[in-house]
Amino acid sequence: MNIIWTRSIVSLALLAALSALVGAFFGVRIALAFAVVMLVVQSFFGTYHTQRLWRLLDAPVYGEVPSALGIWGEIYYRLHKLAKRWHAQVRQVEQQHSRFIQAIQASPNGVAMLDDHDQIEWCNAIAETHFGLDAKRDLRQHITHLVRRPEFVRYLNSHHYEEMLIMRAMGMNRRHTLSVQVFPYGDNRKLILTQDITELERTDSMRRDFVANVSHELKTPLTVLSGFLETMRELPLDEADRARYLEMMDQQASRMRNIVRDLLVLANLEGDMRPPGDELLDMRAVMRHLEDDAINLSAGRHRITFNSDEALTVAGAETEIVSALANLVTNAIRYTPDGGTIDVTWQREQDRAVFSVRDSGLGIPAEHIPRLTERFYRVDRSRSRDTGGTGLGLAIVKHVLQRHHAELDVKSEEGRGSTFSVRFPAVRSALRKSVAV
Ligand code: ADP
Repeated sequence: MNIIWTRSIVSLALLAALSALVGAFFGVRIALAFAVVMLVVQSFFGTYHTQRLWRLLDAPVYGEVPSALGIWGEIYYRLHKLAKRWHAQVRQVEQQHSRFIQAIQASPNGVAMLDDHDQIEWCNAIAETHFGLDAKRDLRQHITHLVRRPEFVRYLNSHHYEEMLIMRAMGMNRRHTLSVQVFPYGDNRKLILTQDITELERTDSMRRDFVANVSHELKTPLTVLSGFLETMRELPLDEADRARYLEMMDQQASRMRNIVRDLLVLANLEGDMRPPGDELLDMRAVMRHLEDDAINLSAGRHRITFNSDEALTVAGAETEIVSALANLVTNAIRYTPDGGTIDVTWQREQDRAVFSVRDSGLGIPAEHIPRLTERFYRVDRSRSRDTGGTGLGLAIVKHVLQRHHAELDVKSEEGRGSTFSVRFPAVRSALRKSVAV
């Protein structure tokens, strides 16, 4: 027997006992009247609270639970406890839901959810930009009414989603490439995931270009070399021709060697994630070394001057920095016709150390300048080859400078000459005896 029954029986028993007591003092009639009045009062009390409860259940207001005495107080209290527990559960589910939405919003990929009629139920901000949607405005719209690309419509209707679809983005980023994949779930619902693969595509095509370029660069000298070998094997050559052929073969072999050497340097630079170190270079010795090499290479064909701030130095990996600077000096000599001038300076520019090579050479047409540091990019292919270039020199320079947070600045005028300047950041620039500039 539960508490309600017990209480009802106890209160009826109490009423009967009280009525009997009243009957003993005032007679049966008064006792009956007393019992009826008490029953009416009890019934009124019950009806009053039933309608309060009814009103409460009809329009529940959280936290507002009436109070009462007796069994009704108990009922209200239990109801209050139940409502509190229910509210806490709802809050917990709401929090989980909002965390889940935040996580999907933070995802770098687009997420869109479709109902069983392919209408948009929800999408995150990335999917909005990928598809040019507006999450609020386009809610409940059929997705193919908004994403009308024929390849997308075909893909969605095909019901074969094992492979992803590659398509152009919509909205503001029409030049971007997307990968789109549909994942069916639940009862005919769909989850669409999108990813911007523009950068991936670009690096992939760069990798393909690079492999094609390397193969091409190596194939040319290899073909020439095989040609010479065949000639030597098949033709009777006199000593002079033989020596000439061997000399030309040697040239081709050294061209291949240089390419492989530069490729290895590049690969090492790209693969080296360690910072380049911060040893202070002896720039006086470096400048002397660069000057000697320049004079040797030029062999008197150019007027060469070197000017440097003797106190100025830079922190970094010596071999890397020297190879980058030497590359710029060598290029100036190679691309400056005989009789031209080459001026090399090492000086302060505010708090930065700047290495600059100015030549009066061929110059570079403006449209080529942004591409000079690409691997194998050459303005004049035959001139580069004739002077022993691999097309990788400035790519190496770029990597070395990037590692040292330095910048390369190229100014050039076709037919008048070029200036290549390297600006080291203030943190790497120093005066001798480690005094910062
Ligand atoms: P390369 O081995 O061909 O010299 P680089 O990467 O060093 O390769 O240079 C890329 C291209 O930039 C060169 O082929 C050349 O066309 C151009 N270039 C570099 N330095 C100079 C310069 N001082 N004057 C004119 N053109 C230059």
